[in-house]
Amino acid sequence: MATRIFIDQGHNPTGFHNAGATGNGLLEQDITYQVGIYLADLLNNDPRFEARLSRPTATTVLGTNNATSLAERVRMANEWPAHFFISIHCNANPNPAINGTEIYIFQYGTQSNWLAQHVMDGIVQTVGTRNNGIRENQTFYVLRRTNMPSILVELGYLTNASDAQKLRDNQYGFAYGIYLGILGYFGYSPA
Ligand SMILES: [Zn+2]
Repeated sequence: MATRIFIDQGHNPTGFHNAGATGNGLLEQDITYQVGIYLADLLNNDPRFEARLSRPTATTVLGTNNATSLAERVRMANEWPAHFFISIHCNANPNPAINGTEIYIFQYGTQSNWLAQHVMDGIVQTVGTRNNGIRENQTFYVLRRTNMPSILVELGYLTNASDAQKLRDNQYGFAYGIYLGILGYFGYSPA
């Protein structure tokens, strides 16, 4: 049986509630949408996995406000039910020097933690962002309410010039890095 992976692209399209951060002319929701599409394609072309997306099309809008937008993503994953949940985001900071990849989990020492470590290694090795580590955080709704191991990946900082260039020009690389991380978690080699 294929492992079911739910990919949440984090935000709604521009102009709707729960749109994301901006920086260096980039919109978080556009980057996370496309990285999710690439990742789902990689997984769905690998018979060991089956992937679903929170935003299968660029015009998909989830919920009617921020709270229901988040709840809808969790509901879709729990009802499938997915085996793993990966939420994709881009970070922003008033200080343009801040850069790097962070991955949030609900609790250290869990399967989510091990998956996060592999995904971090995959991203850093593939796109060359800085490893800012795995961080425990119990405030993220999608980490608290999903019934399966879940990670929230902050790919990089839109507000940092070097990260922004990677986020603009190497969206496939971020997806491939996450894919390699998933393979590493399972001890698989690339298909
Ligand atoms: Zn976000």
